[in-house]
Amino acid sequence: MTAHLLRIGDDIIAIHAIVTDEGVTLIDAGLSGDLGILTAALAGVGRSPADIRGVVLTHGDTDHIGIAEALRARHGVPVYILQADADLATGAMPARGVKADAWRIGPTLRFLWTGLRRGALRSPRPSAVVAMADGDVLDLPGRPEIIAIPGHTRGSAAIRVSAVGALFLGDAITTRHVLTGAEGARLAPFSDDAPRTRVSLEKLRGLPEARIFPGHGPEFAGTAADLLDALDLRRID
Ligand SMILES: [Zn+2]
Repeated sequence: MTAHLLRIGDDIIAIHAIVTDEGVTLIDAGLSGDLGILTAALAGVGRSPADIRGVVLTHGDTDHIGIAEALRARHGVPVYILQADADLATGAMPARGVKADAWRIGPTLRFLWTGLRRGALRSPRPSAVVAMADGDVLDLPGRPEIIAIPGHTRGSAAIRVSAVGALFLGDAITTRHVLTGAEGARLAPFSDDAPRTRVSLEKLRGLPEARIFPGHGPEFAGTAADLLDALDLRRID
């Protein structure tokens, strides 16, 4: 099976697609206005949204679920999330009230503007989700393996896709702080329990995948061990 990775969106908010002979798996679902850029990116490799077999969410925050409901409603695409974040994603539990640690005007405006432009204020929540569990290997293109890494949210997941040599960490970490613009790998802002994330990430230390993708910021080129050794434990500059 050949598999390759498409990165859709930008370093502020990205969606990742695993494209294989069996179809497409999406990792996270961006913002509600992202259907157009997703469709264009898939067309570039001869695929369409109808080829998407599943959306796997790293967690339930609104900047990661944008097009999940549209794909579910139009194409019957199942939306997977760890049970502990299911209510956050569907809206059965209200959005989290987490304060930012720090912010600077330029990067904050860029993040907010990206959100507005790409539909953050009108993201419909998925009306149904499929609960996944720690250790699951989903029967989806690329066979994503789910590793629970609670901390940013209770139901945060690392998604391991060996077929493309990648780990997707959602907002456990960031490589460019959306509110300060600070570069480098660090624990992400807006976390329920950032020290718990640091402990959770140790579960990944022995994994061989050498491409790590956060929900916000550029790729970290290295293994989980490299990331843990490089991690700046300050969440702010
Ligand atoms: Zn996020």
